[in-house]
Amino acid sequence: LIYEQIINVINKSSKIAVTSHVVPDGDNVGSSLALCHALKKLSKHVTYLIDDNIPEVYKFLKGAREVERLSSFADLDYDLVIAMDCGDLERLGKVKQLAEKTRLINIDHHISNTKFGEINLVEENASATAEIAYKLIKSMGIFIDKDIAECIYTGIVTDTGMFQYSNTSQETHSIAAELIIAGVAPADIFNKIYQNSPKEKVLLMKEALQSLEFHFNDKVSCIAISKEQIDNIAKEDLDTEGIVNMARDIANIEVAVFLKEKEANVVKASLRSKSYVDVCAIAKGFGGGGHIRAAGCTISGSLEQVKMQILQALQKQI
Ligand code: 5GP
Ligand code: MN
Repeated sequence: LIYEQIINVINKSSKIAVTSHVVPDGDNVGSSLALCHALKKLSKHVTYLIDDNIPEVYKFLKGAREVERLSSFADLDYDLVIAMDCGDLERLGKVKQLAEKTRLINIDHHISNTKFGEINLVEENASATAEIAYKLIKSMGIFIDKDIAECIYTGIVTDTGMFQYSNTSQETHSIAAELIIAGVAPADIFNKIYQNSPKEKVLLMKEALQSLEFHFNDKVSCIAISKEQIDNIAKEDLDTEGIVNMARDIANIEVAVFLKEKEANVVKASLRSKSYVDVCAIAKGFGGGGHIRAAGCTISGSLEQVKMQILQALQKQI
């Protein structure tokens, strides 16, 4: 029924903005672009709006290179905004200015989703928002061509950590199989996403790994990197996705913490768990959110202060 409601609103709208959260990852770029391409086939006027730059690694997806970053969204005029993969309205950054004054559909899979839309299609069991996008596009009767399939496949592959996390279901693999039938070449996508890091990113990983620490009987690992360290390695914006995995993928570790100093006294934390700690609850305690096994938040304080706060919050669960 909710799919029908969404299709109904889409049918009534001609100018549609698809959007997602700041610091975009493969699922929000993939699910958003897939929906944009699909809606274009319905002759809608569609724009992908995001208050950030698209990471270089996802630029191979059709349409990703053409995304323009606007400085303000307040004066735009759309019939409908569709937020993809976004847990709350704040995560939209400045696109919030447009979202607040426009009909808003919220399509997501975060357990922490605040249901901020007029219609909320939140499927917590979906491995990726791209999986929901696939089902929506199919139920609209739109043909899934190779370009759309690659966008959806990228969303699924990145959010499941290449099909390794517990959110990977039989349905995830069935959809992946359908996407291969539609023309996706898995090895090509894996190569573009995972065997294509800029040298600077690996140097950043090397630098970050120097800070690796263990706590609580080696059940918690922590990596931290300062703004100065980042600036010394790269001039341009480097994505730091995956750095937390180095700390997580160690035997006996239950929780991995990655701290990145964004500016003086502003630290972005990424949290990952393996089997029993609910890191979404921890992140929510600091105003963030995410999933039970992967969550994040931004905390004010120095790297050392933020680390202490997070370790303290973890102590009760570990
Ligand atoms: P990451 O640690 O890779 O930034 O994010 C892990 C997961 O937590 C992703 O699903 C992401 O959307 C979510 N997340 C990260 N930071 C925040 C935040 O500040 N607020 C909310 N609501 N979710 C976040
Ligand atoms: Mn996602």
